[in-house]
Amino acid sequence: MLNPRGIIERYRDFLPVDDKTPIVTLHEGNTPLILSEDLTQRLGLKVYLKYEGLNPTGSFKDRGMTMAITKAKEKGCTAVMCASTGNTSASAAAYTARSGSMRCFVIIPEGNIALGKLAQAMIHNAKVIAIKGNFDEALNIVREVTDNYPVELVNSINPFRIEGQKTGAFEVCDELGEAPEFHAIPVGNAGNITAYWKGYNEYKGAGKATQLPKMLGFQAAGAAPIVLGKPVENPETIATAIRIGNPASWKLAEAARDESGGLIHAVTDEQILEAYKLLAASTGVFVEPASAASVAGILKLKHEGYFDGHKDARIVCTVTGHGLKDPNIAIKNVIEPVVMEADLKAIVQEIGL
Ligand SMILES: *Cc1c(COP(=O)(O)O)cnc(C)c1O
Repeated sequence: MLNPRGIIERYRDFLPVDDKTPIVTLHEGNTPLILSEDLTQRLGLKVYLKYEGLNPTGSFKDRGMTMAITKAKEKGCTAVMCASTGNTSASAAAYTARSGSMRCFVIIPEGNIALGKLAQAMIHNAKVIAIKGNFDEALNIVREVTDNYPVELVNSINPFRIEGQKTGAFEVCDELGEAPEFHAIPVGNAGNITAYWKGYNEYKGAGKATQLPKMLGFQAAGAAPIVLGKPVENPETIATAIRIGNPASWKLAEAARDESGGLIHAVTDEQILEAYKLLAASTGVFVEPASAASVAGILKLKHEGYFDGHKDARIVCTVTGHGLKDPNIAIKNVIEPVVMEADLKAIVQEIGL
């Protein structure tokens, strides 16, 4: 499908831009919607993966960032700031670099950023400050700074982020010719579940889909404030992108859940890692751990009988970020290479040919 210059151009009728808006794009969006035969067989319904790891900086954050940076540029801003578990900063750093006119300040929780994401923010020349605190504390600082100085906030509480991210739902509908029956998605700050729900509703309103999916959100068990009904002071999970104890879009995520007749559940780190390895080994899709929460979640729901009676339904899982973001986790979860002499016979024997 044609995607000449990113999501703003493709979906401009649904976005707050006009002819004079200076679009800052890295040609994001138009990501593959991959039917997983393996998961389809396991679940008994058609499972599609919306592979957001194939965006320019390797996560869905680019959909929101092209909008946020474009609108910041339109306003004449010269600096933006975000708190980040990694991918927001990678994306903000790349899009500000692309803008040619903006600086980027990033606050991250020290020691809890995947290596690839940190590398991205640094190479794109963002000013990165690691605090001895968690994401929620980082976001509070960013709110204070952006309230009081001429710096634009580009976390997902920036409404333009949600506007951009809703195009993920548009692409799903355009590709399937209809909205799916279910949509599964990891939940951290809850911006993306909010954005997809908004997107599905707008597309239905525009007559481009006739139904709405049930939204199935998944938090990590050690960082599941929405499931528990209260903030988590010290969130813990290997899925660092959803290691959030007090989601910025909490209420909107609950609205998406309730209006759609869906749910928000928790999955353990073990379940996340299992789904992470399964996706890579059995479908060929390498995602970062947080992304696998959506797949871990639907496997768990299947086990609980949630999908009974929905045999031919379609379910789309947003797999949010690329596996190469977090190579350390991958290496820790596989068998190390066998070290051998450069001996043909011995190698053939080792392979079992
Ligand atoms: C940001 C992010 C999430 C969480 O999205 P929210 O909008 O914060 O709920 C999940 N996975 C990855 C890879 C992310 O970068």
